[in-house]
Amino acid sequence: MRSWPAPEMPTLPVRGPAVSLHDTVSGAVVPTRPDGRARLYVCGITPYDATHIGHAATYVAFDLLNRAWRNAGHEVTYVQNVTDVDDPLLERADKVNVDWVELAERETELFRQDMSALRVLPPDHYIGAVESIPLVVELIHRLEAAGAVYRVENDLYYSVTADPTFGQVSRLDRDEMLRIYADRGGDPDREGKKDPLDCVLWRAERPGEPAWDSPLGRGRPGWHVECTAMAMEYLGTGFDVQGGGSDLVFPHHEMCAGEAQVAAPDSRFAQLYAHAGMVGYDGEKMSKSKGNLVFVSHLRNSDVDPMALRLTLLRHHYRADWEWTDQLLWDSVDTLADWRKAISLGAGAPAGPVVEAVLQALADDLDAPRATAAVDAWVAATLGTDGLADTSDAEAAVTMLRLLDAALGLAL
Ligand code: ZN
Repeated sequence: MRSWPAPEMPTLPVRGPAVSLHDTVSGAVVPTRPDGRARLYVCGITPYDATHIGHAATYVAFDLLNRAWRNAGHEVTYVQNVTDVDDPLLERADKVNVDWVELAERETELFRQDMSALRVLPPDHYIGAVESIPLVVELIHRLEAAGAVYRVENDLYYSVTADPTFGQVSRLDRDEMLRIYADRGGDPDREGKKDPLDCVLWRAERPGEPAWDSPLGRGRPGWHVECTAMAMEYLGTGFDVQGGGSDLVFPHHEMCAGEAQVAAPDSRFAQLYAHAGMVGYDGEKMSKSKGNLVFVSHLRNSDVDPMALRLTLLRHHYRADWEWTDQLLWDSVDTLADWRKAISLGAGAPAGPVVEAVLQALADDLDAPRATAAVDAWVAATLGTDGLADTSDAEAAVTMLRLLDAALGLAL
């Protein structure tokens, strides 16, 4: 599938430090250890609706990781999927009486435009579920050979007990797993399953639903196995980071890891699992079911500067749950005006220490709020808001422009 155009990323005069990141499995901030190229998989959208602020926060978070690795001297291979056939998409298409393929293409294109506007570096491999069906079928065969697959009517299920480390990603106990499974696409109550937590690998054709011929029978892939198959194909096992929103920890990332480790028992799926917090609005998590969504494209169409939107996201630590308000956006518009004013002076307070501080903050679990605070301090010193303007660095503006773009993805 086509990705989106890559924005220019300037190179910095100094190399950033090695990158540490919070790992959901160990519950600690640990060093990432890319062996040569850094390998990143971030779970993509199901394209039935436009990109909301919660999605944008997640993709901007992992964009900071991509940039931090590049600034530390690594090349990066980045993979992202599009779940372009799944129940929510088919249900929405049915409800609004639009062909599901058309809906998926339209919303995927809008997502590309939103990501471009936010200057998110594109994945090297942007892959749809439909186009990856042969990979999924191959992986299901490997799981069958490992004795981890069984049939319920004509559907194929993955047996979670096949993975002795099941539960290692989310570290949830069974009761908690059962409690949240149904809310996140699972079917714990289906009769005929060996374990209520088992997940569907291949869903046999139903009347009125799309299906593809395969040696498994006509049907379509389950959600988790789609990401497992793509990550294994395009990154191999033991890749550096699987990322996504915190609502993907269980069951999605747990199942991805389990399936991969049963298919390839000698290696871990990802070295590290990283998760972004949830963005709320009007007192609740922003979600389709609550109807409290703020769309990136609506803001763009209202002439909001996408860089102000990006700065609003950067003002919150990626792991925090926080609440969106319009006031936050307008505060960022004002902040950017100050930053541009300081940069327009050409000379300013010494920029070298700001470069160090920003790169250090981002390499330390993507601490963008600390990075933007360092920029604020430089702006204050340059504009002399304390009455003492500092213009001792003749090259400051050039350095700051490069830094903001390379490290934070903010093009001023
Ligand atoms: Zn995924």
